[in-house]
Amino acid sequence: MKMYSLAIHGGAGTLVKGLMTQELEAEYKQALNLALESGQAVLQQGGSALDAVELAVNFLENTPLFNAGKGAVFTAEGTHEMDAAIMDGHNLKAGAISLVTGVKNPISLARGVMEKSYHVFLAGEGAMEFARQNGFEFASPDYFYDEVRYQQWQGIKDSTTFQLDHSVKKDGKFGTVGAVALDEHGNLAAATSTGGMTNKKWGRVGDSPMIGAGTYANNKTCAISCTGSGEYFIRGVVAYDVSCLMEYKGLSLEAAAHEVIHKRVLDIGGDGGLIAVDGKGNIALPFNTEGMYRAYVKSTGEKGISIYKD
Ligand code: ASP
Repeated sequence: MKMYSLAIHGGAGTLVKGLMTQELEAEYKQALNLALESGQAVLQQGGSALDAVELAVNFLENTPLFNAGKGAVFTAEGTHEMDAAIMDGHNLKAGAISLVTGVKNPISLARGVMEKSYHVFLAGEGAMEFARQNGFEFASPDYFYDEVRYQQWQGIKDSTTFQLDHSVKKDGKFGTVGAVALDEHGNLAAATSTGGMTNKKWGRVGDSPMIGAGTYANNKTCAISCTGSGEYFIRGVVAYDVSCLMEYKGLSLEAAAHEVIHKRVLDIGGDGGLIAVDGKGNIALPFNTEGMYRAYVKSTGEKGISIYKD
């Protein structure tokens, strides 16, 4: 049997057991399961890790429960500015976009940048022009409107505060999304998509679209997608740090991911988690917060969907 592995996340944060209704918890798990199944179907049919992570993230982007695509948080101006990145571990090709408004599936646009342009990273108006010229689907502000996100923003919009959607405990809506995969050809890929932080301004960009910070894939080591306090994940160059610990120090995926999330990120004051897969199909899902929406499946049939600490 050919080997594959897939893991996804829907954000890490102050996810405390008992604060969410059972119905909502079931909704999250169902959404994670469907996203996982969409990516798994690709891998089962011998498809590429790149297609699998894009499809799984597309599913999460189309689900308002998560802070990506439909359901993205509000900026200080009451708009949605989305960031995304995708990376192919086979050839180290990567595509990223940031500060994009109205694009229905930012991760697909990131892939478009990777495949249809000479560049790696396009931002703002230029990225949107690239999307128009290449026929990517746009949606109206109504499509992105979400009442809970709107109320989150109303709560802080007249202040200088900006926040991770993770830090609001009572409504249970969290979630940058990401996926990592190993396909049967031995290729790794990673994808991350987010609306960033509620009430963000000045063109703030987080770690998610930054190659090496929030997203990284290299067939030699691993594929990583991060979630958490972006400013710290950028400073810690978190995704690449995990890969470096494996490549240069010979650490296992589990040990490298653990070292970065439970030590290095904490040491600089950051909180969050990541999902990771290596070339042998091992999966690591560490987080230093109270919870992380996460799910994984392997060709061995092993599968898990969880929210809180085990
Ligand atoms: N890391 C993301 C950012 O800082 C937020 C998140 O993970 O939800 O933009």
